[in-house]
Amino acid sequence: MPTMRFAAVKEAEKRQAIEKEFPYQRVSEIYGEHTFGNKAMKDYMTPEAYSSVISAVNKGTKIDRNIADQVASGMKAWAINLGATHYTHWFQPLTGSTAEKHDSFFEPTGNGEAMEKFSGGMLVQQEPDASSFPNGGIRNTFEARGYTAWDPTSPAFMMGRTLCIPTVFVSYTGEALDNKTPLLRALQAVDNAATQVCQYFDRNVRKVHATLGWEQEYFLVDTALYHARPDLRLTGRTLLGHAPAKGQQLDDHYFGSIPERARHFMRELEYESYRLGIPVKTRHNEVAPSQFELAPVFEEANISVDHNSLMMDLMDKVARRHHFKVLLHEKPYAGVNGSGKHNNWSLATDTGINLLSPGKTPKSNLQFLTFFINTIKAVNENADLMRASIASAGNDHRLGANEAPPAIISVFIGSQLTATLDALEKLEKGKLSPEQKTELKLNVVGKIPEILLDNTDRNRTSPFAFTGNKFEFRAVGSQANCAQPMTILNTIMTKQLIEFKTTVDALIEGGMKKDDAIFNVLRDYIKSSQAIRFEGDGYSQAWADEAEKRGLSNVKTSPLALDFYVTEKAVSLFEEIGVMNRIEVEARHEIMLEEYMLKIQIESRVLGDIAGNHIVPTAINYQNKLIQNVKGLKEVLSADVFQKLAKDQLQMIEEISTHISTIISEREAMVEERKKCNSIESARERAIAYCDNVIPYFGKIRYAADKLEMLIDDELWPLPKYRELIFI
Ligand code: ADP
Ligand code: MG
Repeated sequence: MPTMRFAAVKEAEKRQAIEKEFPYQRVSEIYGEHTFGNKAMKDYMTPEAYSSVISAVNKGTKIDRNIADQVASGMKAWAINLGATHYTHWFQPLTGSTAEKHDSFFEPTGNGEAMEKFSGGMLVQQEPDASSFPNGGIRNTFEARGYTAWDPTSPAFMMGRTLCIPTVFVSYTGEALDNKTPLLRALQAVDNAATQVCQYFDRNVRKVHATLGWEQEYFLVDTALYHARPDLRLTGRTLLGHAPAKGQQLDDHYFGSIPERARHFMRELEYESYRLGIPVKTRHNEVAPSQFELAPVFEEANISVDHNSLMMDLMDKVARRHHFKVLLHEKPYAGVNGSGKHNNWSLATDTGINLLSPGKTPKSNLQFLTFFINTIKAVNENADLMRASIASAGNDHRLGANEAPPAIISVFIGSQLTATLDALEKLEKGKLSPEQKTELKLNVVGKIPEILLDNTDRNRTSPFAFTGNKFEFRAVGSQANCAQPMTILNTIMTKQLIEFKTTVDALIEGGMKKDDAIFNVLRDYIKSSQAIRFEGDGYSQAWADEAEKRGLSNVKTSPLALDFYVTEKAVSLFEEIGVMNRIEVEARHEIMLEEYMLKIQIESRVLGDIAGNHIVPTAINYQNKLIQNVKGLKEVLSADVFQKLAKDQLQMIEEISTHISTIISEREAMVEERKKCNSIESARERAIAYCDNVIPYFGKIRYAADKLEMLIDDELWPLPKYRELIFI
């Protein structure tokens, strides 16, 4: 009897043959045609409405009701032209994914006729019935009055026949219920702080925006195989499965040629991305078989965050057409590399300068060093918050294990800049002599090469590395919404820049020259942020030991890492910078703990089901065959031959029994443990209990199940195996 598994494998094989090449399209012709961007706004809006939106984007000015009506009417005309029937406010609730509630443009006019209607009011604000989104107690469900509000800085776009309008999602009392609101506040704050610091160097700078370029890693798996794995379907990762004979050990996948079937998917995904104005630039294979990466050109952080959320949706939609499932989980398969999402981050001025790019002159390099050293200092002071910003059940598999960056936050800057900082650190305190200044300008600041890009040593083990003209936050998980790490990074940078400005201004007021003051403060910062700098192998035990001596945290699990969000230090930082108030921070903390706990709970249930309902019966079935066989042998063989030959089979029967019994008893114990956890009142304690007391069963049950996979007739095994899943 063909099992579900064989049917699935056959399906997948059949599919290899029917893929068709996606038609060629010139990117310049289709780019952005599905976004209500600059060109569409000009074409469809009055000049008055257009300049109002532009000013809202650039200066944060308000858009009044009358103008909003004009914008709405232009947007509607544009969308209907593209075949839109519905519109939705598109937002990013704290579940991490995106949410939509579609409404039709259609409105009956009373005489059996209808019209398409979309007013400024509908554009600007909506009240989705959002009582079921996580809110951590901010909004009592009986007064479910969260509302969404238009974010004019991120362009509306078309998804299928729906006009999607990026919005924030807040409670009626104004607290953020989403990922975007705190991000927008942090971006505003870093703009103000950085613009002020820029005034030391260039009075023309009026605005600084954070930039983000993400690199999205993911796995592809055939849909039929995916559906035959309840663990993949319900948890996004495999909870059991023996390692295949060949995995990633030959390193033959990385930068190898992209499998044809995957390439077809990528072509179509890129096509859809271009139409949505997502500037996808690179694609390549990753380390593990069937693992890939996709990266766009960097953009302003808010837009880039939206584009990443949109991309994760889009990947799923396009993959369906190719009978693929995209796995965004940080660790879909044990024993092969996990997936991350590097967040490349920098700050750029409205005068076109990347503040983390070394310049041509000593003056521009002093500006570079200012932002560079302030970033290091910010991370040194707030490494724990950075750790909290990337905490999730999935990411624990990367950060806690010996792969990807470790759970210890550190900064890597490469040997050239290390030498520069060492030289600056040796400066004497106080005013600089003319000789010192010349020396400094010529030999220290003057010698930073304009393009460090190729010189920066590559250190893949660092969670936060300087890579020539940007910092790369590598510890972010592949499923994460980039808003969280970006909110934290820009918040701590704001705090740091404000402190820098205050200190430098005080020195200037005390009679010191501006450059001297800046050098003095930077020198102090270099000294006081030594602990966070690390150039060596981040995976090594030696680093874990060293980090402990330096007093750096090494928190490997999410429930504890999330504590860093709610320390007094963190809460007052968020309040001071105006990113979140105490209620918002505490609500978020609670939601994340709850989400963590639920994920582990689901994994535990699914593992129990599969082990108990699929693996154990299959094992018993096969064991019976062996028993029958041994009985048969006994009948047909002479006693002494039987003694000799049946020995191994008897042992196999015994081994199978042992594993079956392990699964049954560990599964029962796990269920008991879950019951204990569920009775714990506090969300934090419950999450910790799940982490410490339930997760350990996963390994024990898996070990027994994976052993059985090796012992049992391949024909009987109910689940697609790793070797079938990971090669496409
Ligand atoms: P890697 O070697 O880490 O794969 P890539 O060159 O593929 O590096 O990725 C570089 C990423 O960094 C791209 O997504 C790119 O858009 C982004 N990036 C480059 N410059 C900046 C910048 N100034 N700000 C933010 N992101 C940037
Ligand atoms: Mg990278």
